[in-house]
Amino acid sequence: MEVGRYAPSPTGDLHIGNAFAAVCAWARARRAGGRCLLRIEDLDTPRVVAGATERMLEDLRALGLTFDGELLVQSRDLTPYHEALARLRAHSALYACRCSRKDLARAASAPHEGEEGPPYPGTCRELGLPFDDPALPVAWRFRMPEGVVTVDDPLQGTFAQDVRREVGDVVLRRKDGLIAYQLAVVVDDLRQRVTEVVRGRDLLSSAPRQVLLCRALGGAPPSFAHLPLLVDASGGRIAKRTAGADVLLRSLFARGLSGQRVLGMIGAALGVCGEGEHLDVATLAGRLDDRVLRRASVTWASS
Ligand code: GLU
Repeated sequence: MEVGRYAPSPTGDLHIGNAFAAVCAWARARRAGGRCLLRIEDLDTPRVVAGATERMLEDLRALGLTFDGELLVQSRDLTPYHEALARLRAHSALYACRCSRKDLARAASAPHEGEEGPPYPGTCRELGLPFDDPALPVAWRFRMPEGVVTVDDPLQGTFAQDVRREVGDVVLRRKDGLIAYQLAVVVDDLRQRVTEVVRGRDLLSSAPRQVLLCRALGGAPPSFAHLPLLVDASGGRIAKRTAGADVLLRSLFARGLSGQRVLGMIGAALGVCGEGEHLDVATLAGRLDDRVLRRASVTWASS
């Protein structure tokens, strides 16, 4: 049974690019006769916005999207992440790292385009620092295995990465104790038995490290399909942090547009329906085949 998922972070309100990703994840799972789960990725607590989860759920409902199974909210139970860390530690796959805050700050959230720094040089790799000494705050890093990982993406083609050399040993638990996105996403995709990860192509470069982490946890990695990014007229990615009223779902609904009208606008941007049409989720989903999605970006012309 195919299992897909849509995994938004409540760091702001959903915009049109998020709606596109949600519909695509739903469409691919349903077309394969499978299920699509919904997961709230809210472990990056400093960036979580109060009330954003409830508003995201409302917006998804207004689009007519219904997900399968139980809603997983990561922050409700941290046990699975701590168990995974313990397991990795038992296999000597982690080490403690005392490097500066600046190096470590990025680890909590999914690294979207341009947000990843240079690879960690491995300064603390062989130092054998203690993991739990209250006098020495440390982050926990994953000893990235050697070798090239290849991801065959039906939409973006083959992506090969020498993860250890190009990315380095990633942080899985920050100095302040926060669980990193890279660990949480792998733990959840494994325990929810996700078979295909569908999300924006700015996370394509995270897929190889997630494959390695998944294997280190004794699991079989899912397959990956990375979607074109929605960009504005000047080619900039539409992002939660910078999204204006013209692309936020809430604002579009507040202007009186229905969910089906918004889906019609997405369909028109992709060239699968005419301007001004209304589409329900199933109809739009039926038109989103790989041929339509095999591109790097889709331009969103605000109305
Ligand atoms: N929660 C991540 C985000 O909203 C998505 C992570 C994923 O789909 O793997 O950016």
